[in-house]
Amino acid sequence: MTPSRTASERPAFAIMNGETIPFDEAKISIMAPGLTFAVTVFEGMRAYWNAKEEQLYVFRLDDHLARQDFSMKLIELDSPPSAEDTRKQIIEVLRVNKLREDCYIRTQAFIDDWGDMIATEPTSSSVICRARPRIDAFDTGKDFVIVSWRRNMDDASPPRIKATANYLNSRLAGLEAKRAGAGGAIILNRDGTVSEGPGGCIFMCRDDKLITPAVTDGILESITRATLLTLAADLGIETEERSVGRTELHLASEAFYCGTGQEITPMISIDGKPLGDGKPGPRTSELQTAYDDLVRGRNERYREWLIPVWPA
Ligand code: PMP
Repeated sequence: MTPSRTASERPAFAIMNGETIPFDEAKISIMAPGLTFAVTVFEGMRAYWNAKEEQLYVFRLDDHLARQDFSMKLIELDSPPSAEDTRKQIIEVLRVNKLREDCYIRTQAFIDDWGDMIATEPTSSSVICRARPRIDAFDTGKDFVIVSWRRNMDDASPPRIKATANYLNSRLAGLEAKRAGAGGAIILNRDGTVSEGPGGCIFMCRDDKLITPAVTDGILESITRATLLTLAADLGIETEERSVGRTELHLASEAFYCGTGQEITPMISIDGKPLGDGKPGPRTSELQTAYDDLVRGRNERYREWLIPVWPA
């Protein structure tokens, strides 16, 4: 079997059920409900390297842990890992893997071993990290398409929680976009308004106002989205959270995709139609710069969102 990642991309250690073990030894049962019935919730965070301070900062760690708590509660995992323990393990996994560069952290809570679809215990957990630079399209942007798949609904498979089950819908959307030759997918709701993409939220700019679908429009309550709403308001940009009609996207002067992994990815076209002049727009670029300053600790105002990894 060829591993899909090169050895240098694989972390040396993972933490499983609180124990630090070699990454390749972190395994689950093939009968785990976490695998067979997707009884798994997770979080994805980024940590940013600040070269000047020689410090690695995990971004909004406690907000991610609070979201994971909610996800675990909703799918009814008994004896879930505490936020305090997971927090310690995140710092530990970054240190033990000696990460001093931008990276990605994934925490998971799931039912391992043998069980049925409604098993609620025992809850297993894992914490892993890997180096992860900024995506290539950060400066150039990507072409997006509106896919034919509709977003799963809050009363079916709630997008508000970060459950692996929701990523079937995301995968189908992503595969359709790829087949269409696009770099990203936009998924509509059952009612035809915009929800989000497979792994990120959507903002558009219209009349110099920043507009994003509401949290009731079938989205994950994205931490990047919340950060950008605060940041934009602080920059004096008017924001609005409301349902966005499909055709409004075509009227937008600019739009972008956002999330922990994507950060802020400009959308340069939708369904083959260029947005604005087909290049990342000025508001998008302004927010990219401000966001980068914020996550790397160059803006004192948001320091409480940065958790240092290495001892001072
Ligand atoms: N929506 C979905 C479906 C996602 O997977 C993600 C990535 N976590 C987001 C939105 C963005 O959320 P966040 O900003 O918290 O990473």
